Amino acid sequence: MIPIFTVEKFTANFTSRKTKKQPFDAEVLQTVQEVIENVSTRGDEALKEYTEKFDGGVPGNWEVTAEERKQAWEQVSPEIIEALKKAAGNIRSFHSKQLQQSRMMELSDDIIAGQLFRPIARVGIYVPGGKACYPSTVLMNAIPAVLAGVSEIIMVTPSRGGQEIAPILSVAADIAGVHKIYKIGGSQAIAALAYGTETIEPVDKIVGPGNAYVAAAKSLVFGDVGIDMIAGPSEVAIIADETANPAFIAADLLAQAEHDEKARAFLFTTSERILEETIVEVEKQCAQLPRKDIASVSLKNEGAAVVVDSIEEAFALSNALAPEHLEIQVENALAQLSKVKNAGSVFIGNYTPEPVGDYFAGPNHVLPTVGTARFSSGLSVDDFIKKTTYVSYSEKALRNAAPYIEAIAEEEQLSGHARAVKVRVNK
Ligand code: NAD
Repeated sequence: MIPIFTVEKFTANFTSRKTKKQPFDAEVLQTVQEVIENVSTRGDEALKEYTEKFDGGVPGNWEVTAEERKQAWEQVSPEIIEALKKAAGNIRSFHSKQLQQSRMMELSDDIIAGQLFRPIARVGIYVPGGKACYPSTVLMNAIPAVLAGVSEIIMVTPSRGGQEIAPILSVAADIAGVHKIYKIGGSQAIAALAYGTETIEPVDKIVGPGNAYVAAAKSLVFGDVGIDMIAGPSEVAIIADETANPAFIAADLLAQAEHDEKARAFLFTTSERILEETIVEVEKQCAQLPRKDIASVSLKNEGAAVVVDSIEEAFALSNALAPEHLEIQVENALAQLSKVKNAGSVFIGNYTPEPVGDYFAGPNHVLPTVGTARFSSGLSVDDFIKKTTYVSYSEKALRNAAPYIEAIAEEEQLSGHARAVKVRVNK
């Protein structure tokens, strides 16, 4: 079911940048442009029209009330609440280590410089709610924002036909520390967050995953507000040697493939035996999966298995791919970490499957996809912080620096810049 590639064919098919990635579907872009235009100019009225059209009903109240948030706790089982609280504790603990203090440094006598770290004031979190419900997304997006000190965290998620949102999303929002929840979704929600309506105040940055309409809307509002990233299909690469367990590898490939038909799962192994046994295991395990139809299409169309000559060759392929998730299932797996150059998040050893990180361990699951791990990173506290630099010179320090500043300013033919220095030192 999973196609076998040579190293050369894999490199040509998956790591070449000769063809530009397909932008959004023209129909999606056109719809989203229209939605943004209308919501930004007509506010709540347009939000209502699109919610009726795309979500099949308008909720009685846009914002989830305090009473609704309270009631949600009674509709979720204690076991799930406990699991969410434990996961939230781990995510909080991991991300709290990312916090940094503003810093001031004395560069030399009479010269002070530094960086002020300040939280973004208002952040919008998109939580998908079309086909499924993702409480883990609430935790992963909101907890770093809370830790960063964002004063207002506004979550949006579509209601189902104008009904309530899934109670578990409201409970996760409470656990994470979300301030407000609105029952809106799709591109109309992104437009409302970016430009504001009579009901919804605009935010400064929008984070969170979503379908093509949401992703296209985020890309179009970028610049007027910040966004985290534009996520492509989810992906995993597994590096395995003779010591790996084919049943584990197969389960992990399928865990990725069940996301959707475009999800990508790759195996790079030094062992022909591991490859053969993994193929058998994939067939066996896939047949038992409720989402077997999605997983089998994804593996067949988007997956690949490659037998490599060495672990070094496996890492070279993985680094060229820059996968969102990388699993290392080889002898002394931890010792191989230094070979990783490009990857969103790494899962080390036979007992660290990706879902450990998807839900629970602490590192963020919002990660760069389709090769963007070459130049970007997963969501962190930093995504909610602005870093303002500052500098202070005394008169003596400016006198010492003046010839250099003036020389560069004149070279750039910006005499006004030079004069701003001269007027001080020649006074
Ligand atoms: P969604 O909330 O992203 O999208 C649903 C909304 O899309 C609807 O509310 C509707 O307003 C809009 N929409 C649907 N059809 C439309 C149309 N024809 N025209 C205009 N608007 C339309 O939920 P979803 O559809 O379930 O998608 C969620 C996505 O998020 C999936 O691809 C999933 O894999 C991804 N996801 C990613 C992560 C991650 O961390 N990377 C986590 C969870 C989910």
